[in-house]
Amino acid sequence: MPLSSEGPRLLLRRLRQLMAASDGDQARLDKIVALIATSMNAAVCSVYLSRGAHTLGLAATEGLNQDAVNKTILHVGEGLVGDIAQHKRPLNLADATAHPRFAYRPETGEDPFKSFVGVPILRRGDVRGVLVVQNATQRDFLNEEVEALQTVAMVLSEMLSALGETADEDEAEQNLSRVFAGRGLTEGLAMGHVILHEPRVEVTKLIGDDPDEEAKRLEAAVYQLRRNVDEMLDKDDVSHDGEHMAVLEAYRMFANDRGWLRRIHTAVQTGLTAEAAVERVNNGMRARLGGQRDAYLRERLHDFEDLSNRLLRILSGRAQLASEDKLPRDAILLARTMGPAELLDYDRRKLRGLVLEDGALGAHVSIVARALNIPMLGDVRGIVDAARDGQEIIVDVDQNEVHLNPASDIVEAYSNRARLRARRMQRYARIKHLPAETKDGVQIQLDKNAGLMVDVENLTDSGAENIGLFRTELQFMVSATMPRANEQELMYREVLDSVGARDVVFRTLDVGGDKVLPYLRTSVEENPAMGWRATRMALDRPGLVRVQMRALLRAAAGRKLSIMFPLITTLEEFRATRALLDLEKARLESFGHAVPASLEVGAMLEVPALVWELDQLLPELDFLSVGTNDLMQFFFAADRGNPQTSHRYDFLSLASLRLLAQIQSTCAAHKVPVSICGELGGRPLEAMALLGLGYERFSLPSASIGPVKRMIRSASQAKLEAALSSLLSEAPANMRDAIHQIADAQGVKL
Ligand code: PEP
Ligand code: MG
Repeated sequence: MPLSSEGPRLLLRRLRQLMAASDGDQARLDKIVALIATSMNAAVCSVYLSRGAHTLGLAATEGLNQDAVNKTILHVGEGLVGDIAQHKRPLNLADATAHPRFAYRPETGEDPFKSFVGVPILRRGDVRGVLVVQNATQRDFLNEEVEALQTVAMVLSEMLSALGETADEDEAEQNLSRVFAGRGLTEGLAMGHVILHEPRVEVTKLIGDDPDEEAKRLEAAVYQLRRNVDEMLDKDDVSHDGEHMAVLEAYRMFANDRGWLRRIHTAVQTGLTAEAAVERVNNGMRARLGGQRDAYLRERLHDFEDLSNRLLRILSGRAQLASEDKLPRDAILLARTMGPAELLDYDRRKLRGLVLEDGALGAHVSIVARALNIPMLGDVRGIVDAARDGQEIIVDVDQNEVHLNPASDIVEAYSNRARLRARRMQRYARIKHLPAETKDGVQIQLDKNAGLMVDVENLTDSGAENIGLFRTELQFMVSATMPRANEQELMYREVLDSVGARDVVFRTLDVGGDKVLPYLRTSVEENPAMGWRATRMALDRPGLVRVQMRALLRAAAGRKLSIMFPLITTLEEFRATRALLDLEKARLESFGHAVPASLEVGAMLEVPALVWELDQLLPELDFLSVGTNDLMQFFFAADRGNPQTSHRYDFLSLASLRLLAQIQSTCAAHKVPVSICGELGGRPLEAMALLGLGYERFSLPSASIGPVKRMIRSASQAKLEAALSSLLSEAPANMRDAIHQIADAQGVKL
């Protein structure tokens, strides 16, 4: 009975003809099983279809007793058919009765049939039924026959949905309202429509007209895919930190995986279009690996799915990403992972929100999302597979939730909250131009963090005074090539022109480690955050930072320039970096170039060791800026970029508050201004605690200016200082609660 190579193709063609005929559903199903039995030379062909989530019923048969149709019911996991459904994989048995799962059903009359092959009928990885052929002779079916049956099962699955067997369920499932938990990476609330960053291609044409032609199309697409993957690896895009590189390497491995490609080719030979063949192999893979608990294997499945989808996009001529497509005016972007440059490819006026399956607070794309003021959630598992382009979606950062296809009551609740939020924004807008002054008359300096021109442009509107931290590396990170000296100078001049009389503190390049520049080759490090980055890199290879320093000095000719150096770990490092700056300034002067009218130089405190050398360092500084993002990750030894650790320790704890208090008092003793520029100062309760520790300068993300200013205007610094000082000696078990109580008792608006 082996199938000739013409067999499956002919079968698929006949199946297509059957579908075009105008029979009723049952009659059509009966004809389908008869046709499959004939073309596969099988005595029996049966289709079992899912009835609810846990059972399967015999829906049509050729060769077994007709009376059993709609009577024989099997639970998932029961009998051979139930076993196939449970494990989502084929069974090929020479003697079915010898299998331990064999369950004898007398009404079917299947006694004489020994050999058995059954395959799951899958739709998007879910089991919709089982297709079985049986014969009296005792022998294994050939691999090609099993493959052919799988192909038929795939076509059958599409037909069934067209027959209405599963279409409603699919539709219902897709329109089901679902909630996903995530982690807020910026602020806000947004409602709009789903745009998949890498849109999925729905395969509509399953049966090919000419297998040789399909095979050629597949070859060409695979060639293109391999080239794309190689280019991605060579380009080493901005988001490609260590983990991302590993993913890309895995892509390359899979793109060259013989087994994967062979399976797709075989499916094409059985008569499927190249697209359907890719989908069929992907379905099989998903069926085998989908239930895996092992995170590594699940990740590999994602890689394969992404790769299959890339291949499908190439095949269907839709190789471009969503950013190049037409965006709706209320786009909410969904992606597994994304680099900052990719986000900037989108028209920001139309972006309402961003949802990533990966991502933690410190991720670079979230820095860009924050600059663009886009509500963003990371760590939202499973949403990319569940969502479809154009679905309604709510991104609720306050509740750390995403609602896909929200029900009307959710939409209403959301709208109410959006109204409340708008009112809150109005409140912030009203105090925007008022000073950040405490009730007891202390002027607090409230600056904002920036890094892209868009941040600078909205300085006046943000309610902040100055730019307290300008992350110069963002310009480098979002650029495909190294910004040239004159481009850097132009940008810095533009920033200075744009802020007018206000101050900007430029931080020299904080690259290396996990902030990888596409065009700068560095070696892979085991602990990039603690690795060869920022000032360490600048001192070993001073070329880059000297060009930058020159650009800054020239851009600020005749005006004030403030510069600070990141990740200073020792006094020596500060001195050596400062010497580079002085050298550049002296050089410019010696060539007769104008230099800044005044120069202020500071350091960032991000490494705990420096705290115990501050008394030595401070006399050489014009100001100190505490980068709490890095300082806290090193203080608690908890990776800020890893969702499993970034929220593990409360920064409002005795240990961290004592550390911050010590920094503040050392700076006060040396009369050196100190500011907080990490995200810590951006939350009103945390900022209130810092106020109580004596901090009077903050540089915050744009969205935090309003809430923190409101808090400041409702607080008395003297009272807070008294309360915090006793807290630090009382050391309450729950510091956060105790600080909350202070806010309540003192009527501070949070
Ligand atoms: C910090 O570490 O707190 C900081 C402000 O720098 P970045 O977030 O850019 O590392
Ligand atoms: Mg830092």
